Amino acid sequence: MSIAYRNGALHVEHVALEDIARQHGTPCYVYSSALIRAAYLEYTEALAGRNGLVCYSVKANSNLAVLALLARLGSGFDIVSGGELARVIAAGGDARKVVFSGVGKSEAEIEQVLRARILCLNLESEAELARVSRVASRLGLRAPVAFRVNPDVDPNTHPYISTGLKQNKFGVAHEDAERLYREAAALPGIEVVGIGCHIGSLMGDTGPYVEATERLADLARRLEHAGIRLQHIDVGGGVGIRYRDETQKPIRDFVEGALGALAGRTEQVVFDPGRSLVGNAGVLLTRVEYVKPGDTKNFLVVDAAMNDLQRPALYDAWHDVRPVRAPLAGAAGAATVCDVVGPVCESADFLAKDRALAASEGDLLAVMSAGAYGMSMSSNYNTRPRAAEVMVAGHRIHLVRKRERVEDLYALESVPNEL
Ligand SMILES: *Cc1c(COP(=O)(O)O)cnc(C)c1O
Repeated sequence: MSIAYRNGALHVEHVALEDIARQHGTPCYVYSSALIRAAYLEYTEALAGRNGLVCYSVKANSNLAVLALLARLGSGFDIVSGGELARVIAAGGDARKVVFSGVGKSEAEIEQVLRARILCLNLESEAELARVSRVASRLGLRAPVAFRVNPDVDPNTHPYISTGLKQNKFGVAHEDAERLYREAAALPGIEVVGIGCHIGSLMGDTGPYVEATERLADLARRLEHAGIRLQHIDVGGGVGIRYRDETQKPIRDFVEGALGALAGRTEQVVFDPGRSLVGNAGVLLTRVEYVKPGDTKNFLVVDAAMNDLQRPALYDAWHDVRPVRAPLAGAAGAATVCDVVGPVCESADFLAKDRALAASEGDLLAVMSAGAYGMSMSSNYNTRPRAAEVMVAGHRIHLVRKRERVEDLYALESVPNEL
């Protein structure tokens, strides 16, 4: 099961992307349930025999069908808002397998997750500890907490997605952790259950991941000496995927590396992967509106834009772009170097630059590796209704989010009588 050409047509599992475009139009996100399942099983198989839990990071792709698929496989969830918890529950996920991360948890969100009896709140500051203690005491509940510790390890990735350095806003400093744990253990309404970290995204190699895990293990040991016993160690997410030709260690190596760093420890090991579960399981299907030749380069203007897939504009990210109909042998000479751009009125509105493509008006293109941080980061900029989303399962095509209608976009707005 994969995303590949068959008889000259690009398929997701057994379904031709042309058929999806005919049924549901473009732009359209298409996900492979088999590829998501396979990536999840890579984690659980590497964890076999160890007390472990995979908590899928919902923000990577929060479509209910994606969440339901993972929930049925036994996955837990890593959320960063009360809204994401509502999604997890709506999709049939188990609140007792939910960890809540993020630097700005509101009182209302803390109350919501405590009432739902989630597994753990990952705290990121002393002020947050005080607030959680207050809310839990008011509700007569005990809040299960961990600190997200900043191990000050450089994941060697893009500065916007590195989160474990001292200059980042995330986590508490390694050297403050012991003091904060003692303080937490003495507070009403607080039950210390774990420790966590997340050093950043898109790691190709296991070195920084293992190093960060070793620092967590070291802290867990010190806390144990101080009489604080933990139930779990959360080693975070951040395992990369191959977008182009990067060297990328497989998921198994990351899991084994983390387990190695935790050898001899008996706490449950929690992983919170996002991108590595869904990134390469999705494509953004788009149609060429115009071919616009230029003096220095040509442009393919397509019907998807930066509001649909923001990663190129935001991170200068590289996504492969493939023709849905494979070019005929010998037609390679017809390819020209083009930028693939959208209709949005920004120069940053591009999906790909300097690609050799032989596309004409009306042709379909697939923007690859778009399953993570694609739809979930999309917007309605330029009053563009968000794309439809489709989940493929074998031969079946499931529409899992309807294309938005323009009326939906201003349904919450009103015009005062007097202006
Ligand atoms: C975003 C995030 C993740 C997932 O990161 P990926 O790079 O998508 O694996 C995991 N944990 C936390 C706390 C996050 O914020």
